[in-house]
Parts: sequence; C-alpha cells; structure tokens
Amino acid sequence: MADAATKPAANELADFEAQCDAWFAENTVRDPGFMLPLTFMEVSTDEQFDFLREWQRKVYEAGYFGMSWPAEYGGGGMHPDFQRIATRMMKKYDAPIMINAIGNGWAGPLILDVGREEDKRRFIKPMLTAEEIWCQGFSEPEHGSDLGNVQCKAVRDGGDYVINGSKIWTSLGDRADWMILLARTSNDPDASKYAGLSFFLAPMKIDGVETRRIQKLTGEFGFVQCFFTDARIPADRIVGEEGQGWSMAMKTLEYERGAKVNAPGGYFVKEMDAMAIVELAKSSQRGGKPVLDDPVMADQLIDYMIDIQALNLNNQRRRMPELMRDRPMGLSLMNKLARTELIRRLTEFSLGFQGSKAAFYVGDEEAVDDGYWHRSYLNSFSATIGGGTSEIQKNIIGEHVLGLPKTR
Ligand SMILES: Cc1cc2nc3c(=O)[nH]c(=O)nc-3n(C[C@H](O)[C@H](O)[C@H](O)COP(=O)(O)OP(=O)(O)OC[C@H]3O[C@@H](n4cnc5c(N)ncnc54)[C@H](O)[C@@H]3O)c2cc1C
Repeated sequence: MADAATKPAANELADFEAQCDAWFAENTVRDPGFMLPLTFMEVSTDEQFDFLREWQRKVYEAGYFGMSWPAEYGGGGMHPDFQRIATRMMKKYDAPIMINAIGNGWAGPLILDVGREEDKRRFIKPMLTAEEIWCQGFSEPEHGSDLGNVQCKAVRDGGDYVINGSKIWTSLGDRADWMILLARTSNDPDASKYAGLSFFLAPMKIDGVETRRIQKLTGEFGFVQCFFTDARIPADRIVGEEGQGWSMAMKTLEYERGAKVNAPGGYFVKEMDAMAIVELAKSSQRGGKPVLDDPVMADQLIDYMIDIQALNLNNQRRRMPELMRDRPMGLSLMNKLARTELIRRLTEFSLGFQGSKAAFYVGDEEAVDDGYWHRSYLNSFSATIGGGTSEIQKNIIGEHVLGLPKTR
C-alpha cells in the first residue's frame, strides 16, 4: 500500500472502496433500539455514549478512521484519499457519528500541529479509539463571543497550576477525560488582555472539577457548566508557553470553524439528507395533494437543492489551490456560516410541509417520522452558535477576508 505522501493508483483506490463498502454494509448499526443523537453536542444518556464510543473504537480498529494521521502516534499513515473513501462509505450507510469530536476535530489537529512529542505519543491514539473523550473549556458565563476576556484563573504553584472559575456550554463535559482549557494566567493591567491567557490540556476527572448538566430546548442534554475549585493540573500540561493561550485558541478555532482541516475522518454531525426532504415533500399533503405538486413549494425546494450543490462544489474548490489564490481563507471561513444557516432554513422549510403535524415532537404518536424533522430543526441552531455565532463569523469574514474596518 502507498505511503501517506504518494497519490494512490486508481485501481488501488477502487479495491479499497470495494473492501470498505463491504465492511460498512456488514457492520453499520443504524438503529440500536434507542434514539441516537444527531450530533456530538446532544449525547444525553449512558447508552448513547457507550454505543457511540464503541462504534468509534470499532471503526478505528477496522482501519477506517484516523487513516491519514501519522502512524507513529496511532494513525494509519496513509494517503488522505483512502480516508475520504471510508468517510464516503460511512455517509452511504448512514453510519452513526464519531463521538470524540473535540478530540478528533480540533484538540488532536492542534496537538499534531504545535504539541510536544510526548503529548503526541500520550494523547493521539486514545483520542482516536475514543478511550479518552475530550471537551473544550473556552466559553464562560459572561464571556462567549468575547473570548479574549475569559476570567477562569490558572495560578502557578510549584509544579502545578491551580484553576479557579467556571466554564459553560461545555459539550461532552460530563463525559470527558480531558479539556482544552483557556485560562487567565496574568491580569497585568498594563498588558494586552490576550497576553494574559494560557492554554492547557487539563484533566477533568480530578478533585476540584465538578460539572452540572444543562438541558437543551430539544429536551436533550449534552453540554454542562464546569466549576473549578482549586483544581491542580501539572504545569507541563500547558501548550506552548505561558501567555501564548490566545494564539493557541485561535489555532484551535481555525480547525473548529473549518478554516483548516485535519480531522481523522468520519463526521461529528449528521447532515440532513437532501433527498429525504424530497421524499418528505412527496409524502406530505397540502390541500389534498403532495407538497411537491405545489409549484411554489417545488420552486423553493429546487432553490435549496441548488444551494446545497453550490456548497458541495465550493468544498471541492477548497482542494484546488488555483481557485483559492485571491482569497485563500475565504471559502473555508464562509463554509461554516453558509452551511449551518442553510441547514437551519432548510429544516424550518421541511417542517412547513407538515402543516399542523409540525407541532408534534419526539414521543408524540402523531409526529411525522417520530419527530425527526422537528428535532432536527431545533438542533440546527446549535451549529449556528457553537464554535462562534453566525454574527461573529460574519465579522471575521468582513474583517479578515474582505478587509472591512474592524467592528471594535
Ligand atoms: C450547542 C452548543 C455547544 C457548545 N459547545 C461549546 C463547547 O464545547 N465549549 C465551549 O467553550 N463553548 C461551547 N459553546 C458556546 C458557544 O461557543 C457560545 O455560545 C458562543 O460563542 C456565543 O457566546 P455566548 O453564548 O456567550 O453569547 P454572546 O457572546 O453573549 O452573544 C449573544 C449574541 O450577541 C451577538 N454578538 C456578540 N458579540 C458580537 C459582535 N462583536 N458582533 C456582532 N454580534 C455579536 C452574538 O452573535 C449573539 O447573537 C456551545 C454552544 C452551543 C449552542
């Protein structure tokens, strides 16, 4: 088999695809007998957690996850084309999500990028197997978008940092073994607020760390508020130097917001299947006829299909340097904003097919498809807020891509 840098031959990829297809056809469990979360942000019950953790381990052990990450740290060391095929097969069989999103999607790429050798050896493999779950401690009760003002304190005391403060909206926080933690190590009034921040790989299952679950408007759980009271973390768990936290946080957000990608494959969020919406439009009735027969609704649906296709094609353009020359970060930064807002509008539109039945939710006998559409709509707001709100994303695009004046 080819190494990571060598583009594989077409026949090698075709053989791999056939093998991969057979594995996912045989091993994918779509319905374990209980409701699965649509994204890593709504893991509510032990059975969901155990099932998804086991699924990720199984896919990794079969060799279909982490394929392009370096072999010396637990990855497959293969060309990314193989992983692209494996992920495509996961989509084809509607496989469950990979649960360790924060580890695999942003902490892992960050550690591979700037981490020390021992951190790579210590953290990458258990992250891929989902043996160790990660969460992200950036947002605080008073500081979400205003991330540069985080107040959770990390005070050096001998060989430790002592953490005091609170983080909120921490997805997977009640399950996590580790947190990427942004905390204030200095409050020097003469220095920039950004210079007082440091970035840690912080253990969660230690004395002084407590979590309180928060319920979402969907009725599900999945994020928590974290309270740190004299929690001691070893000083060598800092990433980079003391005072470099802001730059580490910005690097992390590049992965989180899609400006840079080095995820080990799979997906952390179930994307809505556009063809399923067409089917819903065929089966839903309006004025005694299928919704799809209504020319206005059909027209709108076609517009959505065009938007979806445009987003997908834009994603392909991201892999072609010639098309990215003028504004290298433009498409990547636009992707989170455009995709998450489109899904929100699309789920709202699909609920509109259902007339008064749209009011029924998961658990109601009258709910269409067990309330899937209603739940998808309510959940669609998560991605427009998490990782930076749409308004913040617009600011970033305005300032950093289009060169508009700063908002503040
Ligand atoms: C489902 C979900 C999961 C999350 N998971 C995590 C996680 O794992 N870890 C973590 O650290 N955080 C997480 N978050 C928190 C998320 O990052 C914050 O909610 C987000 O950054 C917004 O911060 P805030 O809630 O404090 O809102 P605020 O910052 O108070 O914003 C309130 C409103 O004001 C607008 N606004 C604020 N500043 C500006 C500005 N400068 N220009 C224009 N508009 C502005 C915002 O867009 C928003 O509409 C999660 C959030 C959600 C919804």
